[in-house]
Amino acid sequence: VIRTRIAPSPTGFLHLGTARTALFSWAYARHYGGQFVLRIEDTDVARSTQDSVEQILASMKWLGLEYDEGPVYQMQRLERYHAVVQQMIEAGTAYYCYCTPQDLDEMREGQKARGEKTRYDGRWRPEAGKTLPPVPAGVKPVVRFKNPLEGDVTWEDLVKGPITINNREIDDLIIMRPADGGAEAGGNANGDAQSGQGAAARLGVPTYNFAVVVDDWDMAITHVFRGDEHINNTPWQINIFRALGAPLPQFGHIPVILGDDGLKLSKRRGAVSVTAYEENGYLPEGMLNYLARLGWSHGDDELFTREQLVQWFDGTHIHKSPAQWDPAKLEWVNAHYIKQADDERLATLVTAQLAKRGLSAPERLPALCALFKDRCSTTVALADWLSMYVAPVTPSEEDKATHLTDAVKPAIRTLADKLDALAAADWTKAAISAAIKETITAHGLKMPQLAIPVRVLVCGRAQTPSVDAVLELFNKEILVNRLRSV
Ligand code: GLU
Repeated sequence: VIRTRIAPSPTGFLHLGTARTALFSWAYARHYGGQFVLRIEDTDVARSTQDSVEQILASMKWLGLEYDEGPVYQMQRLERYHAVVQQMIEAGTAYYCYCTPQDLDEMREGQKARGEKTRYDGRWRPEAGKTLPPVPAGVKPVVRFKNPLEGDVTWEDLVKGPITINNREIDDLIIMRPADGGAEAGGNANGDAQSGQGAAARLGVPTYNFAVVVDDWDMAITHVFRGDEHINNTPWQINIFRALGAPLPQFGHIPVILGDDGLKLSKRRGAVSVTAYEENGYLPEGMLNYLARLGWSHGDDELFTREQLVQWFDGTHIHKSPAQWDPAKLEWVNAHYIKQADDERLATLVTAQLAKRGLSAPERLPALCALFKDRCSTTVALADWLSMYVAPVTPSEEDKATHLTDAVKPAIRTLADKLDALAAADWTKAAISAAIKETITAHGLKMPQLAIPVRVLVCGRAQTPSVDAVLELFNKEILVNRLRSV
């Protein structure tokens, strides 16, 4: 059975790149009727926070990436990593290294001076017939993996094709750091990050490349999709899998996402978290559709449902070259889903957007969403439009000068009076339309000569959907007052 996973580190929001990897992993598992697992890689105790865990879980939920197992927290598995390290030491595939930071500095300096590549020189690596240095007092050892010295590591990458790295290129990786001992275990168990610190103090924390292998093994992961910044880690991981006698998963390394400046998408260059797009009024189905097309394609299809994605996503057609983040295309995709969205649902989302601006929701909000959604690509844009129903508008000086001429003001007042005279029960589009027609006839105007000034005055802009439809959804008092302000 196919099992995939996403393994975010809770040191910030769910990054768009991680969200896309999660989406690919999820879709791959769903396509093959397999399972998708969520693992929280929280071994960077100093930078991991409970808040970030919650943001990640919320973003996964928002995108609808349901996982079958998890979240599994690495910091709750320290005992397991230690047991595996112990096995490896006994089997001779891992060993203690007592180098101090100064020792390692000197090692690197010496190598640099000789023009060599800096790497761990294997001085604590046990070999037949080799005498190890005497164990220094007071140094807590790290554990290193005894990487093979010879031979190639080769794998058929699901995205990049065959990759080969020679073992001479890689050194004996640290797999476990000693307990720091200082902090009091369980001293302040306020959420996972803190209790993590307690556990780290007691037990010592594994490094990424080791924990990831033990986890992928224990969780029976068959296909690992991740960002291609991890390609250099994969040979170590493959060697550790082999040392453990664990079955190898397949690996697929997905190219990075580039910003429109051609550089890796990063916080400094705009929104990179899923949360930010949720807040900026995108719909999860729009985001999912856009992310799926970012570095993957299915013919010329640009718009597709979650079900189609699952049906089509078989692991082929993931692009080998980096994808480019394209905000305009994301808007276009999202606009499609806004148009299709249920008006009650949009009303709820727009209510939240208006609340952020300190505005209450207008009456008949679902009808308003129906009227305006064709011109909006986000719920923020909808809120921009619909705020005119509850908050004052400020027409531009230019629009005022062009459209609110003295010649039209009497007609606007006539319209105000006619609308004011309508009983609540008569407040219909037909009645409003009739009032407008009577007004233009009485003042000898053509429709746009009244409709545009009315729009400027009431909506703060010269272009809107048809004027009777727009006016009908106004609260009568607000509308009449605005017309009389001329
Ligand atoms: N925690 C790692 C990351 O967020 C996971 C990499 C992996 O999937 O192996 O980059």
